[in-house]
Amino acid sequence: MARRRQIYEGKAKILYEGPEPGTIIQYFKDDATAFNAQKKGTISGKGVLNNRISEHIFTLLGQIGVPTHFIRRLNMREQLVRQVEIVPIEVVVRNVAAGSLSKKLGIEEGTQLPRTLIEYCYKDDALGDPLVSEEHIACFGWASQDEMHDIADMAIRINDFMCGLFAGIGIRLIDFKLEFGRLWDGDYSRVILADEISPDGCRLWDMATGEKLDKDRFRRDLGGEVEAYQEVARRLGLMPEGVDTTVLDLDTHRKKRSKD
Ligand code: UDP
Repeated sequence: MARRRQIYEGKAKILYEGPEPGTIIQYFKDDATAFNAQKKGTISGKGVLNNRISEHIFTLLGQIGVPTHFIRRLNMREQLVRQVEIVPIEVVVRNVAAGSLSKKLGIEEGTQLPRTLIEYCYKDDALGDPLVSEEHIACFGWASQDEMHDIADMAIRINDFMCGLFAGIGIRLIDFKLEFGRLWDGDYSRVILADEISPDGCRLWDMATGEKLDKDRFRRDLGGEVEAYQEVARRLGLMPEGVDTTVLDLDTHRKKRSKD
């Protein structure tokens, strides 16, 4: 089989050229980074779980009319998506104070916010993804006013849907990050949801115990990262009981065997 052309390697994913023009393959790695990649590690089986969880959430969002780049999952670690031009803004949606918001404004983690807060960060690793206002976005032309209107609209719809989805399985959706991309059709483009939605980019707390079921387990050295991601997948109904994703996944399995 001809080798696929790699387009880009990010912190948690690799992008390859897709089988048809306008498509891309997203490969989910087990690599984990935090604090602007100052902390690096591997969470065995994470890629498999994120691929499956993201597929599930994007499919449901598509069903309620949120346009997304997702086409279909190809295998344990890969999904076929539409090629888009990524808007260089990370959209953070917050329901409860945590992380950088708590640190910056001195609000205790876990404080319910009086209303949903949307924040924008300029996507630039060298600058540490700084928080920016809509004024900055307009001033530097990172997205048009119309695009920002659509993005904010979709972010609120996605949040409402995901809050309900997670509440139904005993999980509190604290905050999460979204990325959007432009889909071009001739001279016109529209923005659609891109990237992924997984415990890598969400804060998910167990409603009963407050236990963290997301990447904060890695960021804060709490341990049990893969078990937490598995628990999210299990509650979403995506995993039969007792399946070990680190063994099921051939890639990881092969690497493990060659190490032994
Ligand atoms: N987030 C992300 N990628 C980033 C920054 C944040 O996925 O580069 C997610 C993060 O997982 C959390 C939410 O966005 O669910 C808010 O993150 P925060 O601003 O509190 O930053 P952090 O505390 O992670 O530095």
